[in-house]
Amino acid sequence: MSIAKTFLEWPVLRQVRTGDFLGRGPAVTSAKTRAKHPRTQDADTVAQSVCPYCAVGCGQKVYAKNNRVIAIEGDPDSPVSRGRLCPKGAASEQLVNSPTRVTKVRYRAPYATDWSDLDVDTAVDMIADRMIETRRRTWQDTDEAGRKLSRTMGIASLGGATLDNEENYLIKKLFTSLGAVQIENQARI
Ligand code: SF4
Repeated sequence: MSIAKTFLEWPVLRQVRTGDFLGRGPAVTSAKTRAKHPRTQDADTVAQSVCPYCAVGCGQKVYAKNNRVIAIEGDPDSPVSRGRLCPKGAASEQLVNSPTRVTKVRYRAPYATDWSDLDVDTAVDMIADRMIETRRRTWQDTDEAGRKLSRTMGIASLGGATLDNEENYLIKKLFTSLGAVQIENQARI
């Protein structure tokens, strides 16, 4: 660095040169800090969404680059959360990108001590077979006084908080149409 340049970099001269008289702005900003930029700036698309974790339903902005989520921030336009997210919601990018995210159906057979992978078609068939068999076996047409019941007490649903409104709507519709009456969600308990 030349002597003139070194001289100009003296703190007080830097403050005068940059107009930063309180020494809280550009006069004290390092080159490393100047080179930093918000990670959301690299995104090529931004989608408004809703945090999937709990029933509060905070608004999120999902930033993506090359079709990959790179950041999720609070949405200031949301009347629910006005730009805020709790630590869990602020970390929801990990729900998408975590290397430990489970992306396969995992199954532990009766009496097995370990889990194994199943393909989706096999898993869906197994679930359907069990639902049909259980419904048939536990179906109640009427009670002991002959009053109409048309229900099964052998099937219940307990949804997790990561289910969104649409999923809960469909689950409620499906289970009610099957005759189940015990349909709950973790967010309501
Ligand atoms: S988990 Fe947190 S950020 Fe997500 S909806 Fe609930 S309160 Fe909001």
